[in-house]
Amino acid sequence: MEVILVSACLLGENCKYNGGNNYHEKIELLKKKYDIIPICPEVLGGLSTPRSPSEIKNYRVINKEGLDVTKNFILGRDKVINIVKYAKVRKALLKENSPSCGVNHIYDGKFSHTLINGEGITTSALRKLGIEIYSENDIEELLK
Ligand code: SF4
Repeated sequence: MEVILVSACLLGENCKYNGGNNYHEKIELLKKKYDIIPICPEVLGGLSTPRSPSEIKNYRVINKEGLDVTKNFILGRDKVINIVKYAKVRKALLKENSPSCGVNHIYDGKFSHTLINGEGITTSALRKLGIEIYSENDIEELLK
């Protein structure tokens, strides 16, 4: 079966900043078609769960307490890149709106609950590697 990288929170893993997850029921269908490699770039980058939420501002990642956590996001991104290269991944299903995994939108960096066009730190790197990126809103495309 083809391998696919999937944001771990979409699989039901409690790695979200608030200790919860973003489980998507269509994942069960995806499991029948692909070998799934779960990744959470923020946990891979050394951040704990739960953790303060973060947003991207001026090319840095800042958490709600004002701490610059860019190095954690970069570390997580680089670990995901290693996984992608090792496992020869061609596709990724990533969680929309996240500062790591966002596909088409991220929050505006002001913690104002406002979405803007943009992508997460890990998503950006995977796109540069030529990986096909899907969000949970595109999951039907992966099931065709
Ligand atoms: S970094 Fe990605 S995988 Fe981890 S909780 Fe956030 S959206 Fe989910």
